Amino acid sequence: MDSFDLSLLAPEITGAHAQFPGALEACADLGALNRLKGAYTGREGSFSAQLMERLKAAPKDQKRELGVVINALKSEWESALKARQAQLEAARKAGGSASSAWDATLPPPIPPAGALHPLNRLMARLVEVFRPLGYHVEEGPEVETEEHNFDGLNIPEDHSARGTADTFYLAGHAHLLLRTHTSPVQVRVLKRLAPELEKKGGIRFLAPGRVYRKDEIDPTHSPMFHQVEGMLVGKGIGMHHLKGTLAYAMKALFGEGADVRFRPSYFPFVEPGCEMDVRCPLCSGAGCRVCKGSGWVEILGAGLIHPNVLRFAGIDPAIWSGFAFGMGVERTAMMVSQTPDLRLFFENDQRFLKLMGGLD
Ligand SMILES: [Zn+2]
Repeated sequence: MDSFDLSLLAPEITGAHAQFPGALEACADLGALNRLKGAYTGREGSFSAQLMERLKAAPKDQKRELGVVINALKSEWESALKARQAQLEAARKAGGSASSAWDATLPPPIPPAGALHPLNRLMARLVEVFRPLGYHVEEGPEVETEEHNFDGLNIPEDHSARGTADTFYLAGHAHLLLRTHTSPVQVRVLKRLAPELEKKGGIRFLAPGRVYRKDEIDPTHSPMFHQVEGMLVGKGIGMHHLKGTLAYAMKALFGEGADVRFRPSYFPFVEPGCEMDVRCPLCSGAGCRVCKGSGWVEILGAGLIHPNVLRFAGIDPAIWSGFAFGMGVERTAMMVSQTPDLRLFFENDQRFLKLMGGLD
């Protein structure tokens, strides 16, 4: 490095030049490098500035020789500083060492906060609505037997829902399928609790969960969707208990003004069966796009438990009776949030989830 004659310079300059490579190497971050740059090549008070003073004050006959030495020294420092700067910047970009990347004055990165999915939130809300009425939560497997999904629910052998066109059967397992509704949870719970029914005085539970049907994906259909099933078994249970319970639940869900109406319908596992409409929560019954001008929207299917369902589980229908209801979660969520396309709930687009209030 001493390819030029340093004897013309003051001892503190030659000392500084000797220390330069070590000082440069010791710079662990851009801040330290800038301080070193200031000390060696800064405009004022730096070694370079001192050299310029020295050159200015030098006798005429020495200026040329001294100028060559000073320029060589300055450009050596400058190019070495520039190279080190590029090195440190590259290290910082690559995530570098803590010492080169850490800046306590930068605002911290804030990761997006997680939250319940809108469908899970609606199911959790339903559970909270029914909890004060003594309902607990029951779960069942998504891979079910024909016995639980159909036989135990009084669904006839020739019912179209049993066909492979509507139901996913497991390859190589003739009697296993993906449950087509949450109702098999009824069969499991009734069978399990039948022996202690008298001791408990009855059964009441909610069964939220995933169900599967061979539907093409479109704005209102998905081969996988969610239901919330509810069931109550007791003595002397009639339609008035069902109506009172559901009317209470809809008020809790949609507000005190929520009104319901029942229409007769048919499901194999209830007798009598009905569908329940709720007064359109968006237009309060005046008529809108969501309720197609009728002022009412269908929200669930229900009925009194068919005696065959109780018998199948080993419960005597002469002593016990009850009601059951099942609600489509996506359908309700779409209605309440005016979401036109079911698929939005499954695409995990954070903009949609934020709009639904699930994310901050
Ligand atoms: Zn409406």
